[in-house]
Amino acid sequence: MNASLTPVKPAAASAKVRAPKSACRMTVIGAGPSGLSATAHLRGAGIETRTFGEPMSFWRGHMPTGMKLRSAWDASNFSAPGGRYSLNEYAATGAIRRTAPIPIEDFIHYGEWFQRQTVPDLDRRKVLRVEGIGDRFRILLEDGERFDSESVVVATGLLNQEFVPEVFRGLPPELVSHTAGHIDLGRFKGQRVAVIGRGQSAVESAALLAESGAEVELISRGEIRWIGWEGAKTMMHWMRAPSGVGPFPLDWLVEVPHVVRLWPHALREKFSKRCLRPAAAGWLAPRMGGVRYKPGRVVVSAKPEGTGIALVFDDSSRASADHVLLATGYSLDVAKPGILSASLLERVRMQTGTHCPALSAHLESSVPGLYFTGASAVPAHGPLLRFVAGVGYSARAIAKGAAARKGRG
Ligand SMILES: Cc1cc2nc3c(=O)[nH]c(=O)nc-3n(C[C@H](O)[C@H](O)[C@H](O)COP(=O)(O)OP(=O)(O)OC[C@H]3O[C@@H](n4cnc5c(N)ncnc54)[C@H](O)[C@@H]3O)c2cc1C
Repeated sequence: MNASLTPVKPAAASAKVRAPKSACRMTVIGAGPSGLSATAHLRGAGIETRTFGEPMSFWRGHMPTGMKLRSAWDASNFSAPGGRYSLNEYAATGAIRRTAPIPIEDFIHYGEWFQRQTVPDLDRRKVLRVEGIGDRFRILLEDGERFDSESVVVATGLLNQEFVPEVFRGLPPELVSHTAGHIDLGRFKGQRVAVIGRGQSAVESAALLAESGAEVELISRGEIRWIGWEGAKTMMHWMRAPSGVGPFPLDWLVEVPHVVRLWPHALREKFSKRCLRPAAAGWLAPRMGGVRYKPGRVVVSAKPEGTGIALVFDDSSRASADHVLLATGYSLDVAKPGILSASLLERVRMQTGTHCPALSAHLESSVPGLYFTGASAVPAHGPLLRFVAGVGYSARAIAKGAAARKGRG
């Protein structure tokens, strides 16, 4: 192994390490909506790009079967040059029908189709490590292959970024788990499940659990905020900005991330928090019949009790459950996935008060050639980057930045 590489974790340690192959211009890590769209635009700009990851793996492996998208049809397009490979174009092949809300299975198939059209040579291997070597990056893959790259786009999404409130930390997974750990909520049939949260994921998980025969209690600090949706042809729906991120009229500001980026950090942070606060799509409301819901409670203690778990709330009331399902969202820290070496991370300037990078207009970090897209770009570019609706903006910005670098190079 090259002495300059930090020792890698056990899976890699056992892998056979091969010498670096030829250098490549751009490496994209991640094959979700952000990584695939970035690749399409980079290649469109004539930049040689290698892309790694399992296509749509977060959607396939960390969201529940039966889920439906909160984002509307027109806000759920991947992005390629010339507006190609949209959901409408996929629907025109006859593979899916335009529906509202969109079933997750249709969206996964759309993502895989987009990948076949735009990145047919996708490399499904995992990237284990990225090291800064001079003005380049050395990439280590799971099978031990190494190669150098002039630039890197980190598009690894929400993987390993789950937020677990302090009170639930250290409890066994049979008693407490995060929504990201489940595809099949049917496994809780006949059990008493306490769902913590009040956003889309909490409300939809509660509905899916109740529909599959679990006894469900939804526990949250405050009331559920219901938001309109595409199928509800109300006046408010027609006034909303296309992406539907944030409350009206702030949603219109969300649409201009290049402007939001220029705001003072404190203002942008407040704005993002306001636009990303927990809310659930109105179409879920009729499905809540089988869910017990008492808002205004905070869990202050959670302890194993018999085969289940005992909960104490801030008003001293109590509850018990067989399992607690945390729909408590994600807390972004670019160090957590463990891909970027410590010495590289040290060179990445973070956005004040966050563990996410400060980024240029081209989503380039303080390390020249190292780009970030998706959720980790929210502190720098605002809430649109958290959603599929933001992938066109980020992909175009990265491609523009990389093309300018290539020109300079
Ligand atoms: C329950 C839930 C529901 C959501 N619903 C919506 C919705 O309705 N509409 C919406 O717009 N957004 C929704 N989101 C947000 C959604 O996650 C993002 O919009 C979208 O996934 C962002 O795409 P991405 O490519 O940045 O990340 P991801 O989709 O998470 O893709 C990350 C990619 O990185 C790859 N990867 C990770 N680590 C490595 C590695 N070491 N090596 C190689 N590859 C790696 C993964 O395999 C994957 O391909 C939802 C999120 C959750 C949790």
